[in-house]
Amino acid sequence: MRPSHAIAERMRHIDASGIRKVFDLAARMDDPINLSIGQPDFEVPEPVKDEAVAAIARGENKYTQTQGTAALRRKLAAACRDEFGWADEPPVLVTSGTSGALVLAMLTLVNPGDEVVFFDPYFVMYRHLVHLAGGVPVCVETYPDFRPDLDAFAEAITERTRLLILNSPANPTGAVYTADELRAIAEIAAERGLLVISDEIYNAFCYDAPFASMAAVYDNTLLLRGFSKSHAMTGWRVGWCTGPTGILEKMTMLQQYSFVCSPSMAQAGAVAALDADISAHVAAYRRKRDKVHAALGETFGLVRPGGAFYAFVPAPGGDATGFVTRAIEHNVLVIPGSVFSQRDTHFRISYATSDDQLDRGLDILRSLA
Ligand code: PMP
Repeated sequence: MRPSHAIAERMRHIDASGIRKVFDLAARMDDPINLSIGQPDFEVPEPVKDEAVAAIARGENKYTQTQGTAALRRKLAAACRDEFGWADEPPVLVTSGTSGALVLAMLTLVNPGDEVVFFDPYFVMYRHLVHLAGGVPVCVETYPDFRPDLDAFAEAITERTRLLILNSPANPTGAVYTADELRAIAEIAAERGLLVISDEIYNAFCYDAPFASMAAVYDNTLLLRGFSKSHAMTGWRVGWCTGPTGILEKMTMLQQYSFVCSPSMAQAGAVAALDADISAHVAAYRRKRDKVHAALGETFGLVRPGGAFYAFVPAPGGDATGFVTRAIEHNVLVIPGSVFSQRDTHFRISYATSDDQLDRGLDILRSLA
C-alpha cells in the first residue's frame, strides 16, 4: 500500500464508495438478477466486427492522427451537416469513448474555482471530473419528474459559472428533453454567454418522439456522442465531439499528450457502425421500457422514462439504500440513487438485459414493495 501522502490533493474528492459497495455485494451473490449494468445486452453488429478485424489484417494497428482517422471524421462531419442542416461540415475530434471527450473538455474548459452546473440526478462522472479540474459542481434538482427546472437553473448561475452540462436522454433517469425545453435552456445560457456541453451518448434510444439536440438550437454547444451505447461498443473506446473550433483544437492538443488516439481498429469499425441498422435493438428496448413502466409505474410511482435504457424508481419509504439492500438480499442487483444524486430516495434499474432476467427482477421488486 502506498502511503496516502503520495496521492495528490486533487484526488481528495474522487471516490467510488457508493457504487463500489454495490459491486462488492454483487461479487458475493451467485447468479444475481443483474439490473445494474450500464451497457447494452445486444452484440456489436457483425459488419462492424468484420471491418475491425479486416482493419487489423490490413495493418491498421498503428497510431492514427490524434483527432481521429480522416475516414471516420469525414463521415461524422457529413452526418452532422445533414442532421443539423449546417452549411459546412464541422470539425470533429474522435476521442477515447465519450468519457475521453468529457475528460478533455473539463481539463480544457474549467479553471480552479469555476462552477459547473448540471441537473441532479446526474451521470456520476460529471461530479468527479469537475473536481479533478479543480472546479465546483453545482447541482440543480429535477425531482420528482426529472424535467429541467428552468427557474432553478437560472438561479444557480453565478459570476463563477463556467459551463452547463446537459445529458438527454439521461442516465440515470431516462428523461428526454423536448426541443422547447432545450430552447429555454439555450436562452438562459445565451444571456450569460455560457458554453453548454451536451452529452448525447444515448441519442439513439428515444422512444416517444424524435430526438432533439442542443446543437440544433444553440451554437455555443460542445456536442458529445459515441458508439458505446448505440452499437454496444463499450469496450472499443470510440466517442467523438464537435463544437467551437478553438475548443476542439485545445482538446486535440491535450489528447496528443494523454489518450493519443482512439484505438485504430475500433475507429475502422466505427466507420461501418455508421451504416449499421440498430432499429431492432431500439424497438426491443422501447418494449422493455414499456414492460418496466407497466410493472412498476403504479406500485412505485415511477415516472415513465422516454429514453436511454434506465428507469429511476422512487424507493418505498424514500430510503433507497435500505430498499437496495433488501433487493440484493433477494438476489436482484440495482443501484441506489445516492450514486447519481445528492438524494438517496430512488434506485436505478437498467433494463438492458434479457426479458427473462427483467421479468424475474421486476416480480421480485414488486413483491418487496
Ligand atoms: N455519458 C453518459 C451519460 C454515460 O452514461 C456514459 C457511460 N455510462 C458515458 C458518457 C461514457 O461512455 P463511453 O466512455 O463508454 O463512451
